[in-house]
Amino acid sequence: MMPTRRPPDTRWTLALPWPSRIVRLATHALPAGTVRDRYRSELLAELAAVPGPHQTRHAAGILTHALALRSAVRGTQVTPLEAVMTTPTKPWLCRTNLHHRWEWAHTRDGERYIRCAKCLKEKDYGAGTRWVGGASMGGGYTGP
Ligand SMILES: [Zn+2]
Repeated sequence: MMPTRRPPDTRWTLALPWPSRIVRLATHALPAGTVRDRYRSELLAELAAVPGPHQTRHAAGILTHALALRSAVRGTQVTPLEAVMTTPTKPWLCRTNLHHRWEWAHTRDGERYIRCAKCLKEKDYGAGTRWVGGASMGGGYTGP
């Protein structure tokens, strides 16, 4: 009986131990179950097709993209770091409550109130608020 032979142009190598471990670690980011098992098998087969000296680099690439693959499998979007960094946040002085830029604003029914122009915080009418005259008398808020 003749032994089964691979086609001569296919050069399969054994996946080296450490690159295999890296790929197995990367697949731990995926949801447990058949999805993870399937991707692990495919990625390990892909790794075996990579020549030995390049397997570690290939496995590292799989590891660095593991979270993106998880997002793709789950159907969620990865938030780019730039979007997170450019998203406007509450100004630092407002967050620390050291300084707000108070301004008059109106509710939908026409009532006036004071809010911060930057963070939209409404002014607390408690102690420490100084009023000079009433709004109907032409006076106004002088600020803290
Ligand atoms: Zn503010």
